[in-house]
Amino acid sequence: MTERLTTQSGAPIADDQNSLSAGARGGLMLQDWQLIEKLAHFNRERIPERVVHAKGSGAYGTFTLTKDLSEYSIADHFRGVGKKTETFLRFSTVGGESGSADAERDPRGFALRFYTANGNHDIVGNNTPVFFLRDGIKFPDFIHTQKRDPKTNLKNPQAMWDFWSLHPEALHQVTILMSDRGIPATYRHMNGYGSHTFSLWNDKGERFWVKFHFKTLQGIKNLSNEQADQLKGIDPDHAQRDLFAAIEDGDFPKWAVKVQIMPEADAEQYHLNPFDLTKVWPHKDYPLMEIGVLELNRNPENYFNEVEQAALAPSNLVPGVGASPDKMLQARLFAYADAQRYRVGTNYNQLPVNCPHASKPNHYQRGGAMAGTGCPFHGSAAGSAGDVNYGPNTQGGAAQQAQYAEPPMDLAGAMDRYDKTVEDDYAQAGDLFRLMNADQQQALFDTIAATLSQASGEVQEKMLEHFRQADVAYAAGVKAAIDARR
Ligand code: NDP
Repeated sequence: MTERLTTQSGAPIADDQNSLSAGARGGLMLQDWQLIEKLAHFNRERIPERVVHAKGSGAYGTFTLTKDLSEYSIADHFRGVGKKTETFLRFSTVGGESGSADAERDPRGFALRFYTANGNHDIVGNNTPVFFLRDGIKFPDFIHTQKRDPKTNLKNPQAMWDFWSLHPEALHQVTILMSDRGIPATYRHMNGYGSHTFSLWNDKGERFWVKFHFKTLQGIKNLSNEQADQLKGIDPDHAQRDLFAAIEDGDFPKWAVKVQIMPEADAEQYHLNPFDLTKVWPHKDYPLMEIGVLELNRNPENYFNEVEQAALAPSNLVPGVGASPDKMLQARLFAYADAQRYRVGTNYNQLPVNCPHASKPNHYQRGGAMAGTGCPFHGSAAGSAGDVNYGPNTQGGAAQQAQYAEPPMDLAGAMDRYDKTVEDDYAQAGDLFRLMNADQQQALFDTIAATLSQASGEVQEKMLEHFRQADVAYAAGVKAAIDARR
């Protein structure tokens, strides 16, 4: 039998097609609550889109551990070969609005959640191992140059290249962005990276620094500028369509999960700052170690509920996994949860996609907008340490667990705003350039020239000097490509 149509408060509706009016041709009645509820709710159907990473796609999956990491970490999902942990992964572009095309040249978000037995562990990464900046204080300025100009409401190549020309630290990521990997063919055909340096710690109180890598098992596939331009018109949602269809068809995408691990003390001696997000750790120094496979195998039932409201945050760490002194990570530890509170609401962690599926939440935080549903996976109300709303207490409420204390971390130095321009910003950009074959280098030159040629002469000169520092052939190629457009 068809279910009955009701108002939000459950009253059966007799007629949902005709508004209540005074006479057949008369005005509408204020007492038509059905109409008012429908229109009022419709007006509130959208929440603020993410200020970055607004356009995205998501799916659930499974992480299967193939190498035990107990010697490095007490994290539940990294212990016991064969252990399976439920995951959720949201892919995205960065600069475009929520309706923008999937085929933009833009980094891709790769935001992975593990629903572990000790809480949610989120790795809010990208498809690139590095980032444009190494200090979060620059992030709002940088994003302003990537989004629309405040006056023209158009993308602004001058602003973009002006900013990059003043930030040589961006050159490594700019080189990746402008390379053949700058427009992945789909979300399935690209790698993911945790990008930041995180830490692992074990039951002996030892700490290790770690980088996470997710290598696509579908193979890397990219779009040329021409293919992307065509696709943006034909199917602006092609990556969403591809991911959803693949999972629906049972063709589950997979990534090999790998880590690079550095003993805590090595960081002091290493020839580069291992907490600088503009740098990779070269594989020859710290080889990749395969630890498992990530598979996406379940589409969300409702895009808005589960993908738009998915609220991942790098601050979602679990015992055995910690942060590092990476300055960008430190800024993101604050910024993401703050953005989710603004965007979704104070109690965003009670929504089914966000609450800890495999670990019952028990705390003394109470109230706030939309409180009360709790985590549906545990059949309990919010917080739910019984009726008592303070801790510690003598009434059997939830108690702290000293065995999960993170080992102390030594810090040194005077408080100051340190000038970070002393780092080498060019070597790794040059290494990447020299990895490319002649066709890839030519495509890089042409792609850079397409927008750099629209920037002022002064900015072009500054950029050419940066390219020169990375590799003289890099600068010569870009210059020739700009000249060819004149
Ligand atoms: P390796 O020769 O050991 O590895 C090169 C890496 O570059 C591979 O991981 C490869 O990914 C990746 N790569 C190839 N083309 C591109 C591209 N257009 N954009 C982004 N990544 C690409 O090198 P090293 O470890 O010594 O590093 C050399 C350079 O490689 C670095 O400066 C960095 O730019 C880049 N790189 C390094 C990574 C690292 O963690 N060490 C990770 C990614 C890039 P794949 O294996 O999937 O083909």
